[in-house]
Amino acid sequence: MNKKSEMNNIGYPESKRYHLNIKWILTIFVVILIVSLIYVRYIKQLTYNNIYNNITELSEQTATQLNLAITEQKKFVEIMVDSINRGYFKTTDDIFDRYKGDLEDYNFTRLVILDEEGNGTTSDGYTVKNYENIQEFFTQEDVYLSENRPSTVSDNEVNIYSKKFKFKGQNRVIFATINTEDYKEILLRRLFNGKGGTFLINNQGDILIDSFGYTKGNNVNLHNALRKECDSKDREIDKINNMEKNINELKVGTFDIRLNNNTYFMHYEKVNVNNWYVVTVAPDTTIARELLIFMAISLGVCFFINFIIISISLYIDISNQKKNRKLYRVAYIDPVTELGNEAYFRENAAIYLQNHSKNRYIITLDVNKFKAFNNIYGYEFCNNILKALGKKLIETLPEDSITCRISNDVFASIFVYEKDIRKLLDKISSNVSSLIVGDTPIYVNLSIGAYKINSNDKDINKILNKSYIARSRIKGLYNENYYIFDEVLESNLTEEQKIESCMENALKNGEFKVIYQPKVFVETEKLRGAEALVRWQKDGKMIPPSKFIPLFERNKFIIKLDLYIFEQACKDMARWKKEYNYEPNISINVSKEHFVNENFIEEYVKISDKYNIKRSQIDLEITESAAIDENIDTLKILNNIKEKGYTISIDDFGTGYSSLSMLQNMPIDLIKIDKVFVDKADLNSNRNIINYIMLLAKRLDVKTIVEGVETKEQVDFVKKLKCDIIQGYYYSKPISREDFEEYFNKKK
Ligand code: C2E
Ligand code: CA
Ligand code: CA
Repeated sequence: MNKKSEMNNIGYPESKRYHLNIKWILTIFVVILIVSLIYVRYIKQLTYNNIYNNITELSEQTATQLNLAITEQKKFVEIMVDSINRGYFKTTDDIFDRYKGDLEDYNFTRLVILDEEGNGTTSDGYTVKNYENIQEFFTQEDVYLSENRPSTVSDNEVNIYSKKFKFKGQNRVIFATINTEDYKEILLRRLFNGKGGTFLINNQGDILIDSFGYTKGNNVNLHNALRKECDSKDREIDKINNMEKNINELKVGTFDIRLNNNTYFMHYEKVNVNNWYVVTVAPDTTIARELLIFMAISLGVCFFINFIIISISLYIDISNQKKNRKLYRVAYIDPVTELGNEAYFRENAAIYLQNHSKNRYIITLDVNKFKAFNNIYGYEFCNNILKALGKKLIETLPEDSITCRISNDVFASIFVYEKDIRKLLDKISSNVSSLIVGDTPIYVNLSIGAYKINSNDKDINKILNKSYIARSRIKGLYNENYYIFDEVLESNLTEEQKIESCMENALKNGEFKVIYQPKVFVETEKLRGAEALVRWQKDGKMIPPSKFIPLFERNKFIIKLDLYIFEQACKDMARWKKEYNYEPNISINVSKEHFVNENFIEEYVKISDKYNIKRSQIDLEITESAAIDENIDTLKILNNIKEKGYTISIDDFGTGYSSLSMLQNMPIDLIKIDKVFVDKADLNSNRNIINYIMLLAKRLDVKTIVEGVETKEQVDFVKKLKCDIIQGYYYSKPISREDFEEYFNKKK
C-alpha cells in the first residue's frame, strides 16, 4: 500500500478489469462509427442509383409524352394540308372554318395561311403582313416544328407547326401555332418541390423551353450556361463536354455535376423531333435532406440501442465492481486501520519483490504489552492507537513502501532503503512510539524485527519468519527496540533446525538429564533442597539450556521436555526417600507454554502421584513474565496449581517489569530474586532495590530466595537483607544426581 495510505489509494486489482471495459466500450463505439460510415456511404450510393433511375425514367416519360403530343399535332397539320391539297376548299376562310373547331383539342391557338411574301390572315381574324423569315417555312418539305419565336399577334412566345401547299396554283404555307407556355403546362414539369425541372433543348444545346424560367426569354445555350455555373473543375467541364458530344451524336445519358456548390443530377433524353432533347435536372439538396433525415433516424435508432446496451453493461459492470470492492475490502482491508491485512501484505509484498531488486527490507513491529493497553484504555481507544501507529509508521518509512496490519498489534512493512538501516530503525523507534490519539499523548514500547531481503529470497513466508525471529530476539534485551536478522541469527537458525530434527529422538534416547543445584537456608545454612535443571548430553557434550530452551519454547517441545524432567525429578525423589529417607524440597521449572492449557497441572499431578511424592515437596518455578502475562488468566492457573498442593515460586523476579502489587492476589509462596540484583559490580547500588523487594515480600508473607550468589561477600550481603534462601555457585554449581546425593548426605 502506498505511503499516504488512505483507503482510496489502495490499488485495487479489479481496476484492471475496469480499464478493460472502457477499452471494450471504445472499441464498440469505433466499430459502430465505422459501420455507420460504411452504412451512410452505402445508403448514399443506393439513393444516388435510385435518383439516377428516377431521373432517367422522368426524362424518358417527358420525352415520350412530348414526342406523342408533337406527333399528334404534326399529324393534324398533315391531315389538314392533305385535305387542302385534295381541293376540298374554295377559300382560305373555308379552311379556317373547317378546322377552327378542332384547334383546342390539339392545344393550337390559331391557324395562319401566308403567301411567299409573308402576307395572309389568321383563323381568328388577324391580318399578317411581311412575316419575318417566311422563307424558312417554304424550304421545309415535311411538317415542320419551329423553335420558339415571338408571336406577331400576341405577346406570347409561340412554336409553329408549318407545311407548305399549293392553293389555286400559288405557294402557300399554313401555320398551326401553339403557345410555348403550353408545352410547359403539358410536358415540362417542375420537379422536386420546384428545385428541379426540365429543359427542352435543340441539338446545339440552345434552350427552347425551360420549366425553371431560367432563360427569361433570352437565347441561352445550356452547355455554355452549365460551363459558366459549374464549380470550374476540369472534371465538371469534362462532364459537360461529354454531354455536348453525346447530344451531337444523338445519344442519351445521366450524370451528376457540381453547380454553385450544389450537386445536381441530370439526364438528357432524345425527343425524336428536330433532334431535340429533354434535359431533366434534380438538385441533391432536397434528396440529401430526405436522405439525411432518413439516415439521422436510422443512426439515432442505432445509437440509442447501442447506448442502452452500453448502459446496461456498464450498470452490470459497476454493480459487479461494487460487489467486488466490498468483497475486496473484506478480503484485503483491515477495518481498524484501513490498511491492508495479512493477505494483502503477502500478495503485494511478493509483487513488490519482483519489482525491486536491491536494498529491500522487511520489518515487523508490535507494541509491547498491548493487551495491557486494552485493559487500561478500552478497545475503542486502542483501535485508535493502532490507527495512529499505522499512520506514523507510513509517514516515517520511504515513499513507496507497503505497510499493513497483519495481526492484532503486529504491523509489517516492505521497502527499499539505501542508507544505514539502523538510522531508519532508530527513527521508527522514536517517531512511532510517541503517538497522539485524539488529544491524548500515548507512549508505546515497540519491538521491531528487521530483515534485509536476500536476492534469492522469494518465499514471503520465509521472509516474514526471519523478521519474526529477529523481533523475538528483542524480548529480554534491555532498552532495545529492534533487532536486525543477521548472520549469527542465520547460523543459529540452521543450528536450531538441526536441533529440531533430533530433539524427539534425544528425548526417547534419554539424552536429556536432570542435574540439581542445592538451595540453602540463609540463617541456618541448612539444605532446603535443590532446583532441577535440564542438560542435554549430546555426543558426549553437555549442551546448556540457553542453547535449546528458547527454541523449545517457540516450537512447544518444552511442554514434553518439562514433563520429562518433572518425571525424572520425581523418580529421583522417590529414590531418595527410599534409599536415604530424605525428602528435600525440589524446585522444578515450568515453562509458560503449558499455560495455553488451563488444566495442564493434571498431567503433573498424575506423575508425582505415580511416584508417591508429596506435592508440598515440589516447588514449581514460574517466571515473572509468565505470571503477569496479560493474555492468559494466570490467576486461575496459579490457583489450580496451588489447589493441588504444590508451592509456587516466581522465577527471575525483577526482570519482568511487574510490581509486587501485581502479585499480591496471586497464591505465591516464594519470590526468586534474579541474579542481576546480586551482580558483584552493582551490589551496593542494588541494595535499595532488594531491600524494597524484601520489605514487600514480608508484607505479602512471601519467602524470598536469591539466586546467582557466587561469593562470600554476596552471601553476607544477602544475609544482612534478611533473605530466606540462597542458591548459587557459592554453595554449589548444578550437579549430577549422584553428586547431589553425596552433597545432601554430607550436609543434612
Ligand atoms: P533459571 O531457572 O533461572 O535457573 C537458574 C540458572 O542460574 C541455571 O542456569 C543455573 O545454572 C544458573 N546459576 C545458578 N547459580 C548461579 C551462580 O551463582 N552464578 C551464575 N552465573 N549462574 C548461576 P541453567 O541451568 O543454564 O539454566 C538456564 C535457564 O534454563 C534456567 O534459568 C531456566 O529458565 C531454564 N531451564 C533450565 N532447566 C529447565 C527445565 O527443565 N525446564 C524449563 N522450562 N526451563 C529450564
Ligand atoms: Ca528456575
Ligand atoms: Ca531464575
